[in-house]
Amino acid sequence: MRCPLCGTGNRPSRPVLAQELDGGRLQSACVCAQCGLWYLDDCYADRSAVYAAGYAAWGNPGAASDLVAEAKLTAFRQQLKFLVRPAGDAPAKLLDVGTGAGYLLDAASELGWEVYGCDTSADAVRQAAVRHPGRIFHAPVASLPFAPGTFQAITLTDVLEHVSDPISLFRAIRRLLAPGGTLLVITPDVDAWSRRLLGRQWFQFKHEHVTYWNRKSLVRLAEATGFRVVQVRGNVKKFSFAYYRQYFRKYGFIWPIPQLFEAISCVMPSWFGRLSFANPVTGELIAVLEAAGESRR
Ligand SMILES: [Zn+2]
Repeated sequence: MRCPLCGTGNRPSRPVLAQELDGGRLQSACVCAQCGLWYLDDCYADRSAVYAAGYAAWGNPGAASDLVAEAKLTAFRQQLKFLVRPAGDAPAKLLDVGTGAGYLLDAASELGWEVYGCDTSADAVRQAAVRHPGRIFHAPVASLPFAPGTFQAITLTDVLEHVSDPISLFRAIRRLLAPGGTLLVITPDVDAWSRRLLGRQWFQFKHEHVTYWNRKSLVRLAEATGFRVVQVRGNVKKFSFAYYRQYFRKYGFIWPIPQLFEAISCVMPSWFGRLSFANPVTGELIAVLEAAGESRR
């Protein structure tokens, strides 16, 4: 299997339990001996069916959408602190790649950014366009109708791990960023202690997550595509009790954690579900990358 980052051929060597809506599927991951990237043995397969209507709301819009919206807004407000909006009167433009239902754009608008988004899911684009009309594009980054260097910031949160051609994606993003502009990336960290502890049961192993990054592979990707690494560090997210419970209902988890959440929610008053606490096992990286030098065509 050819490595999506460096092109080296590797053999599948790690069993992983790739989660899907209807349970887990035992697959193998390749671990690249050259660059450290992990990738599923079928990472180049067509996965468009996964992103059908309802994907952004976990296949259950009625029950989960408020919880997901609230959790995502809280997380994005936190993450956007890593971006500095340029001073001056000219509007600073931000593009969210893989914007889903557009929650990051809601949070960025509050901070004064002029926001745009794109997604390859028609359903997600429809949802985001309700609140950001004319600003959401149903297209991959490389096909967007913007001149090179248009954006001061581009965000790529929980997206990179879905992509089997990361080099092309980063090059397309680099073209749209102004020199000195910032790319903010959030992605699971395959070196996280939660992965080492949970092994093949790590909750980030999902059928739609086809590549898995660590500091080394992320830095290599950035430097190969025209970025300067400002910082790469662990990312911590906060979620409400009700969000965790819903998550475990969808994806399951090692016994007895989901059962414990169900039991607690039966005996506690409803306000308890809204209490937020940091997820100690998020196992994610956040990278702040600066577009180096002149914008290239
Ligand atoms: Zn590699």
